[in-house]
Order: sequence, then structure tokens, then C-alpha cells
Amino acid sequence: MAIFEIDRCMSSSFDERAGGQKPDLLLLHYTNMATAANAIKRLCDPVTRVSCHYLIAEDGEITQMVEEEHRAWHAGKSLWAGCKDINSCSIGIEIANVGPDQGYPPFPDIQMEAVEALCHDIFSRYRIVPERVLAHSDVAPARKQDPGEKFDWQRLFSAGIGLWVEPEPIDGVEGFKLGDTSKHILNLQSALSTYGYQVNITGRFDAQTKHVVTAFQRHFRQERVDGVADFSTLKTLSDLLQVYEESNLAQIADI
Ligand SMILES: [Zn+2]
Repeated sequence: MAIFEIDRCMSSSFDERAGGQKPDLLLLHYTNMATAANAIKRLCDPVTRVSCHYLIAEDGEITQMVEEEHRAWHAGKSLWAGCKDINSCSIGIEIANVGPDQGYPPFPDIQMEAVEALCHDIFSRYRIVPERVLAHSDVAPARKQDPGEKFDWQRLFSAGIGLWVEPEPIDGVEGFKLGDTSKHILNLQSALSTYGYQVNITGRFDAQTKHVVTAFQRHFRQERVDGVADFSTLKTLSDLLQVYEESNLAQIADI
């Protein structure tokens, strides 16, 4: 039971989770709209055919729009760890923020507190492993940027939500970029794919690889989001994979 208040403004844009799945992934978004009220209106409007389970306003107020057992329509065309139907396996949380076109302000402390409280509340009902707390940009790198490079994943990790490692400092050494071919790029693609990103393992730094590297940076190496796989990006990814594998082993031991 939640220890905080949740408003309700129920949307008719939902259906059944495929195969009666239980949610095992948390997908975080920003609204990219002028006000939280406008976003709620849009997400509850049957004509738009988009929705999410919860929206968290800048002042920390939480509104539920779809029951958790139902499949909300927030992820769109997405892919993670080989799964195409992200809506069926996820709970979608929209975090109110006007987005980059209107200055992309920081997420207020009180709003982040509400994000933490809601995530913990959801974790009390479902088994959601840390590496499956994701950004919309992680599962749709070519289409989406939200919740963006100002979203404080480190803070969430410190609160026991998601997976995160201290990013390797940027050192100015030139990295791999669009058009490059190398066995190191093969390793990079393989590492990204192991974590769950959808990327073809070709050894060629193509447009898809650039999108995925950009998404990785937006989540894990936020200081520079440029789609170039520099040493800092590669080392941060390698550190993340190590923590991921340790976390996986711990989960297996836990079963
Ligand atoms: Zn989104």
C-alpha cells in the first residue's frame, strides 16, 4: 500500500498485457509538454491513443491513469533484450518536464522524491531487477531522448533504484565514430547488446550504433552526449557490464 497520495484520472487507452504478463520493467519518460495538467489531459484523451500508468508533476503530485495490471500505451516501437512488446512487460512513468525545446529545466528535488517513492512502491508489488529500470531513449534510441541527460540516474541508484556506475572521466582521446570499422567496434556492439540495447553486431560504426551509443551516454555518461564511443564511454560501459554481471549472479543466487 502506498504511503503517499495518488490522484486518478483514468485513461481508456490501454489493453491486456500479452500472455497475462506481470510487469518486470520500469520505463521512465519526460512529458515534453508545457504543463503537467496538459500532459494528463493528452494522456487521458481517448483520441490520442497514448497513455501511461503514472505521471509525476513538478511539485511531486502523482496521477495514475492506467491500472498496473493493464497494458498502457507509452513505449511505442521499442526493443529491449530482444523483446519488442515493451508495453506488455512494463510500467510507464511520465515525469513532467517541458523538455529541450523549452529549455529542459532540471527535475526538482520534490519531483525526484516522488519518483523514488513511487518506484519503491511498485517494487513492493513486482520483481523488477535493477537493469530493467530504463529510459524511453534506451528502448527506442533512434526516436526518443527522454527523460534525457539531466535526469539523475545516480540519485535513483543511490536510493536502490536501477543500475549505475561512476562514469569514467572524459580524457580527450579520439573515439570511434560514424563510418569507422574495427574489431573494437564489434566488441562495443556486443557489450551494448549484452546489456539489452538493440544493435546489430557488424564491426561497423553505423547510424544504428551511433543512436545506441548516444542513448547509452544519455543514461550513463551524461557529461557529453555526442554518439562518439570515446574511451570514457567504452570504460563506463565495461564497468557497467561488470556490475550487471555481478548483479545477475546475485539474482541467480537469490532464486
Ligand atoms: Zn517517452
